[in-house]
Amino acid sequence: MPPESLRCKECKTRYPLDARYVCEQCFGPLEVAYAAREDVDVGALRRRIQAGPPTIWRYADFLPVAPPNRGLAPGFTPLIRAHRLEERLGLRELWIKNDAANPTHSFKDRVVSVALARARELGFETIACASTGNLANAVAAHAAAAGLDSYVFIPADLEEQKILATGVYGTRLVAVRGNYDDVNRLCTELSGERPWAFVNVNMRPYYAEGSKTLAFETAEQLGWELPDRVVAPIASGSLFTKIARGFEEWLEIGLVEGSLPTMNGAQADGCSPVAQAFAGGHDVCRPVKPDTIAKSLAIGNPADGPYALELARRTGGTIDSVSDDEIRAGIRLLAETTGIFTETAGGVTTAVLAKLAERGDIDPDERVVAYITGEGLKTLDAIRDGVVVEEIDATVASFEAGVPEAVAA
Ligand SMILES: *Cc1c(COP(=O)(O)O)cnc(C)c1O
Ligand SMILES: [Zn+2]
Repeated sequence: MPPESLRCKECKTRYPLDARYVCEQCFGPLEVAYAAREDVDVGALRRRIQAGPPTIWRYADFLPVAPPNRGLAPGFTPLIRAHRLEERLGLRELWIKNDAANPTHSFKDRVVSVALARARELGFETIACASTGNLANAVAAHAAAAGLDSYVFIPADLEEQKILATGVYGTRLVAVRGNYDDVNRLCTELSGERPWAFVNVNMRPYYAEGSKTLAFETAEQLGWELPDRVVAPIASGSLFTKIARGFEEWLEIGLVEGSLPTMNGAQADGCSPVAQAFAGGHDVCRPVKPDTIAKSLAIGNPADGPYALELARRTGGTIDSVSDDEIRAGIRLLAETTGIFTETAGGVTTAVLAKLAERGDIDPDERVVAYITGEGLKTLDAIRDGVVVEEIDATVASFEAGVPEAVAA
């Protein structure tokens, strides 16, 4: 199914497949439009996918670029049945999609791979991004692997782990005094002046397509079936809406059957423009100034907010938010019941999942998939206070004094 054009999401005006992201008629966002598929041989298509590489490129038929012959190949991350978390939450069938298991430990490897492949096709030699942290990691690493120059723009107050894990790749790391929305505004300006591929600005239509692979993998890993419900985090809303788009594309051609899952979005109270609009019954989001430990989700003016709202409402879902303390508890709950240590964004997702279960929103018979999008080692401050260490001398007596409950019977 080759990509046909870029198309305005609002007025449907079509544009060539180059580095552009905004409609000249109505200023709406552009997305990739594909030619319609007819008479799909579902069996043959499934076999072709299964014979592909264990990466996002097994779904190249549904992506706007040819698979690159070099670089870090993300995707095909584990989908794990979470029996102990099911018991804790009173659910029947819960799966965790662990996207921390990507080359730079977040789902951003998916979107960057697709954007960078398209940037190379278009002849760009410099890759750049406006990042809340994980995108910086991914752009720096993928540019290094491909031998391209890179510039990475981040808010100056980012977690140290994310700054170090980006700088190591030899990128030019620029810390902007301001929040993500300031960084994004600067990058939008720069993208008009320099011949650079900003993966999430002028390459955004291609970038966004990468997130569909999360849906494709989930369906394939469930044996060509769909979940009944999805819980996923929202920053700009791109990931959330593109997971649904991936399921829709496969429903349309009959690769899977049934209907679109109920879509539940997750935000932090300290940056919850989409959750607030959902609660208020609004169709658009009022921008906010972020203040939360979930820095990777701290986008105060989410580009895909209206589409996320529409999607949650259309599928009978919700968009909820949780406090920083609930986020910390969510990180621990997931770690203690699944052995998966996630960053603050995964704490947001887990805490919202727990909230939905407690509220009785989830029918016990449902098959639920929660998307864990990043790695806990990148946000260690979030759990520092809750970790207890007993320091002792190297003697049995000191051990028994220091850890009394461990005294032998
Ligand atoms: C970027 C990011 C998201 C979601 O981003 P969107 O802008 O909504 O696509 C979710 N989780 C993590 C860990 C991220 O880094
Ligand atoms: Zn338009």
